[in-house]
Amino acid sequence: MPENDTIPSAVQAAVARHSHDAANLVQILHDIQNQLGHIPEQAVDQVARVLGIPPVKVAGVRGFYHFFHDRPHGRYDILFSDNIIEHFQGKRELLNYLCTQLWVEPERVSEDGMVRVGSTSCIGMSDQGPAALVNGLPVTRLTLERVTAMVDLVKAGKPPAEWPAEFFQVADNLHRADALLGEPLERGAGVRAVLEKGADGMLAEIDKSGLRGRGGAGFKTATKWDFCRKAVDTGAECQEVGGKICDNTAATVRYVVCNADEGEPGTFKDRVLLNSYADLVFEGMTVAARVIGAKQGFLYLRGEYRYLLDKLNGVLDQRRKDGLLGEHILGTDFSFDIAIHLGAGAYICGEESALIESLEGKRGTPRNRPPFPVTHGYLGKPTVVNNVETYASAAKVAAKGGEWFAGIGTAQSTGTKVLSISGDCDKPGVYEYPFGVTVRQVLADCGAKAPHAVQVGGPSGTIIGESEFDRKIAFEDLATGGSMMVFGQGRDVFEAARNFAHFFAHESCGFCTPCRVGSRLIAKGMDKIASGHGTCADVEELKRLGHLTRTMSHCGLGQTAANPVMQTLEKFWDHYDNRLRSKEFEPSFDLDKALETARKITGRDDAWAHISAD
Ligand code: SF4
Repeated sequence: MPENDTIPSAVQAAVARHSHDAANLVQILHDIQNQLGHIPEQAVDQVARVLGIPPVKVAGVRGFYHFFHDRPHGRYDILFSDNIIEHFQGKRELLNYLCTQLWVEPERVSEDGMVRVGSTSCIGMSDQGPAALVNGLPVTRLTLERVTAMVDLVKAGKPPAEWPAEFFQVADNLHRADALLGEPLERGAGVRAVLEKGADGMLAEIDKSGLRGRGGAGFKTATKWDFCRKAVDTGAECQEVGGKICDNTAATVRYVVCNADEGEPGTFKDRVLLNSYADLVFEGMTVAARVIGAKQGFLYLRGEYRYLLDKLNGVLDQRRKDGLLGEHILGTDFSFDIAIHLGAGAYICGEESALIESLEGKRGTPRNRPPFPVTHGYLGKPTVVNNVETYASAAKVAAKGGEWFAGIGTAQSTGTKVLSISGDCDKPGVYEYPFGVTVRQVLADCGAKAPHAVQVGGPSGTIIGESEFDRKIAFEDLATGGSMMVFGQGRDVFEAARNFAHFFAHESCGFCTPCRVGSRLIAKGMDKIASGHGTCADVEELKRLGHLTRTMSHCGLGQTAANPVMQTLEKFWDHYDNRLRSKEFEPSFDLDKALETARKITGRDDAWAHISAD
């Protein structure tokens, strides 16, 4: 527990470091937690006082993000990645082993306050899992030996900074590079091109390239940028931000935002792009800024990739030194800079309007749309939000031309797609292909072992069976943000769907009832079937809930939360059928099981301590 007088100084330092700006609240809370280990009530009150906002707002933000804590959570905070691929690799057994060795219950801080062991949603390491975050830093390739070594280190009180460096090694695992990643781009080539061609000329090139957003939805990039550059700030939709009202009379200010919050389980290609191709990403953001007329950009980095923060800031510094960022870029009248905003463990912040809310220092609740961010984005101003891969592709288009790019891929899906491949294959990792490649080809290249099913695009995407392996990766066929999870023969597809159902229930932001309640009921229904108590009535109920969440939810998360269950019910019915105990009704509440705790407490297990079916 921090001394009471350390709290005010920690808060003062954090608030000062972030310009006393309530729009930086998430970053301020990160700073405070880094100093104090958690964010106590006293800090909440003080932050509120200094920023001039209600304490309930600060507490609300603290409570929204999984990585913020209102109480101490141990000197060692160990969170295993909960992706199904890592389950198949033995995550649960390793977690249980670690808990047993450290005498700690999962998800609880040990009695001596030293350690907490728990789970968190996919941390983007499933090509080198099982993996865990230790005090926010990824430890990869967990084995029994490595976990045993971790036990010794924790018992010896060694801080993670003194643990063996190889524990924290994260490999790129780039196995196939093509037009985007295969040929290096000279630093500054994209920026020079946009300065030469001008905003109109570059927009025409982007349009000619046919570039579409790489997040999965595939909106045309040139159209998005054009909407944004033409948007005028009327002030009509300006919102209250941190106690300040946007200035309606100011000339239109525009922003460029890079969505680096890839949280879809099984995806990790942005990790590689940011680690080894950050210049390309920042180059693309700078090109976008010149086209739309923005002076400020943000890279929203998922909290799980915090270990990349210093490296990325180093790349930004170098670009400033090279005159590629900052005032008067390459001696022209064009000025633009980029700041990095760190997320705090909320999958929903990958949704662009939730991401903007988070950038503004708020809970990541998706906004009503329209209006869209291109007209009313960050601080109510026109904002372009694209993902990491889209900006990297835009930089290549800027330097090499729209025609070159349009000649790659298919007519409707130009260019290449970077895929994150994990699961039952010899070479999990990152693969880049021209759009139009078949799933069968990808499976052959990664050495898939007797593939039975492939989850394309993560849990919110599409699961396909062997009969569909000739389908193509393309917007017109299998659209994907990049995640591909391979399930070999013998893998339990039902368990994968159950894991995904829990993922959505956990990540629902809670704003709207169909998703908040529906996703939990779906997960409970799957648990009931898994426990051997499922009936056909439960399956019908799952379908009803699936329809409800799909049609009534506020945002894409809720609208796709039932996809894994609905699709596996349709395509892999045998995985459900052999689990159903009865085709008749069975109550969902097991009275006898509910008495288990009472039996443990009283030490009884005789016949009279049970409620029998008779
Ligand atoms: Fe939040 Fe889910 Fe509603 Fe989206 S659908 S706003 S994630 S509760």
